[in-house]
Amino acid sequence: MLWYPYAQMKTMAPPIEILDARGVYLYTRERPLIDSISSWWAMIHGYKHPELTQAIVEQAERFSHVMLGGLTHEPALRLADKLAEILPGDLDYCFFSDSGSVAVEVALKMALQYYVNRKQSGRVSVLALTDGHHGGDLTLQFKEDYSHKRRVGVLALNDAYHGDTFKTMEVGDDEDYHFILNALGRRADVYHIPTTLEALEDAFAQHGDELCCMLVEPLLQGGGGMLMYDLEFLRRARELCDEHDVLLVFDEIATGFGRTGVRFVAELVQPDIITLGKALTGGYIGHAVTVASKRVFDAFYDDSPERALMHGPTFMANPLACAAALKSIEIFERDDYLAKIKRIESIARRELADLNDPRVKEKRIMGGVACIEVHDPSTLTGYAQFARERGVFSRPFKNIVYTTPPYIIEESELVQILGVMKDFFAVARNASR
Ligand SMILES: *Cc1c(COP(=O)(O)O)cnc(C)c1O
Repeated sequence: MLWYPYAQMKTMAPPIEILDARGVYLYTRERPLIDSISSWWAMIHGYKHPELTQAIVEQAERFSHVMLGGLTHEPALRLADKLAEILPGDLDYCFFSDSGSVAVEVALKMALQYYVNRKQSGRVSVLALTDGHHGGDLTLQFKEDYSHKRRVGVLALNDAYHGDTFKTMEVGDDEDYHFILNALGRRADVYHIPTTLEALEDAFAQHGDELCCMLVEPLLQGGGGMLMYDLEFLRRARELCDEHDVLLVFDEIATGFGRTGVRFVAELVQPDIITLGKALTGGYIGHAVTVASKRVFDAFYDDSPERALMHGPTFMANPLACAAALKSIEIFERDDYLAKIKRIESIARRELADLNDPRVKEKRIMGGVACIEVHDPSTLTGYAQFARERGVFSRPFKNIVYTTPPYIIEESELVQILGVMKDFFAVARNASR
């Protein structure tokens, strides 16, 4: 029995079986469907891209996997170099893992241990000399003079999504997880705030000295419902993190590789740690990475084994995944994907401009994402089936329908997706008359 994700197995609609896939198309028994959401944002080059397939096959013919404990290999070394090159500033230290959730776990562990490691340094760096009562001997007294309190808190955003493992559920704010966290009964040191400057200032004023990090999906909160917010918020977050000595972590698992219109939001505001996943391998194999700045790495780099990062996913830096990621990044740069994403954005603006329906609360467009939010989620009942009958695979959730298409999509195919999104409202309105 196959157990499906995010689904009540008893009542779920039967999933669509995919027999083949090429470009933006999924081939089903019924008809080809355009994948309007790139298999959860990942398949940016579309399916069966010959170069990506070839890169994986060539690596498989050498070796498909070796562990990274005590061993290393060229695809991993090259990918770490490449990521360091394309990420801004000194985000140069790449820790690979097998999924996005794990990459966020690693980022949170790094942030927590960053202060633990520094605290240990603090303990030995301050020495007090006292006159002992032992015939004038000098006694060295080690004093714990560490100005920080326990830095275990995480500042995160309302409606945040950072993955499905326990810690990522805690730093997230997805109502689907609240009941299971309640069942666990443990209160995490996580503060969730809306994306307003006022809430940000308040949070730092109240909790600034108990935080190890502030963790955000920058500019665009995908799992929360394609929520978008201003760069100004991130700029101010950076300043406040600096003032309060808090690490800023960007979860760019969804936004990375162009989805917001820039390659990484980190190019606009520099975080201390970034996580990437989803499109990292062009979607061809699951993989993720946590990339730390020099300042973070340096807090671990020491003679003491206690200051090491104790983590090591079995399949970290899997050679097939690294080969796919290297090829994906090469194609992204060579074929000017940022221009493709700009084109997607302008087509979406043009096509959705004339959608004016009282049931629509807001239309949101940013880079390679277009979304329609409705007032009442029940409005979207039947949408997936409606889209499927018109040749589009879509998966609305909460109160939104959206598209995050493969960047290689043709204008006519994108117009078809957006047309389905608009027509749904036209047809539904006619039916209700
Ligand atoms: C998808 C996602 C994750 C989790 O990644 P998985 O590979 O599914 O574990 C974490 N953070 C964000 C922002 C995501 O979109």
